[in-house]
Amino acid sequence: MYFKKDIREKQMKKQTRAIHTAFQSVDAYHALAMPVYHTAAYEFDTANAMADAFCGRTEMPDYSRVTNPTVTFLENKVKALTGAVHVIAMNSGMAAIANTLLAVAGTGRNIVASRHMFGNTYALIAGTLLRFGVKPKLCDLTDLAAVGRAIDENTCCIYLEIITNPQQEVADLRALSQMAKVRGIPLIADTTMIPFTEFSAKELGVDIEVVSSTKYLSGGGTSIGGLVIDYGTCPGFGKRMKTEMLLNMGAYMTPHAAYMQTLGLETLDARYRVQSANALELAKRLRTLPAIRRVTYIGLEDNPFHQLAKEQFGPTGGAMMTIDLESREECFRFINKLGLIRRATNLFDNRSLAIHPASTIFGNFTDRQRKQMDVSDTTIRLSIGLEHVDDLFEDIKNSL
Ligand SMILES: *Cc1c(COP(=O)(O)O)cnc(C)c1O
Repeated sequence: MYFKKDIREKQMKKQTRAIHTAFQSVDAYHALAMPVYHTAAYEFDTANAMADAFCGRTEMPDYSRVTNPTVTFLENKVKALTGAVHVIAMNSGMAAIANTLLAVAGTGRNIVASRHMFGNTYALIAGTLLRFGVKPKLCDLTDLAAVGRAIDENTCCIYLEIITNPQQEVADLRALSQMAKVRGIPLIADTTMIPFTEFSAKELGVDIEVVSSTKYLSGGGTSIGGLVIDYGTCPGFGKRMKTEMLLNMGAYMTPHAAYMQTLGLETLDARYRVQSANALELAKRLRTLPAIRRVTYIGLEDNPFHQLAKEQFGPTGGAMMTIDLESREECFRFINKLGLIRRATNLFDNRSLAIHPASTIFGNFTDRQRKQMDVSDTTIRLSIGLEHVDDLFEDIKNSL
């Protein structure tokens, strides 16, 4: 359905499929790139056709808050690469996460999640949703007994990040999926840290995948976006996202962002291979520098989560790592001195980025909360780009 006939029949590889997804319908001018349909609404020939589109009996778009051909094309590419039943593209990673949780939760329910989460996801689960009567049950997801104790009859999902940011902790997805299945609740995973072209969340038992497509997918940090990837194992979820959430919350991706992220998706695998190889090589070299107290990177063989990460996500370790220096002051001095590596948040841009998470992303949390989340004052997060590794190493060495 998503490919030209020969590509479909020959079961071509992901790199090929990422490029050659078929348009939903033949373009009037045979454009090779999916045009950007900058339109709010679509005209119908008859009242009957209009009624059919609005009630979901046909695939014709009616209003771009809910469906847009440029966005659908991106969704179809992701569907083809992941084997998902539904893919819903949203305005941001946070929109994907918030809408997903709003679709599965309700007053009196609770969410079992890790203490280690992306700052805004933590604030959403432990703060915003709490105001609507949804309780957070934060526990150590690497401790299966603790997860078992945390789940009760009101739990609506287990929520986790596949590699926590910035702690880089990895939980056993198959085991958590097993627990979720027994209790009849979905396992929801934020897979932003390793692209879905590298591993199959579905095979690990994830029911719903959420991704900040701002990161690896967009490449070059060109646009904000999020994806909800639904494997069809949580009854009614995909339908609720498409009918209730898109219509009532209005956080669908814009056609312009979808266009840029489609271009990003076409080069994702090529970029990721360079970036993850750069990260591994750099992590090895940084360990030789005495001024760096610790290098934390999942791709290093002696990292405590290396083996599990490899089993679940494949041989690459992604392009994010952290380094620890002596003190917060040393971290600031180092960041201020960087010449090539840019001082910015974001992950998986084409250029390398550095940030001090404790004073920025987690800057408005209390010391106690930061301690609970293991966000240390001595940690710097690095996102490794496409530059030559020699130049990155030089920049870091000269800034210490
Ligand atoms: C960036 C990020 C988000 C939020 O995504 P936005 O696109 O910035 O809204 C969520 N989860 C993780 C792991 C992230 O890195």
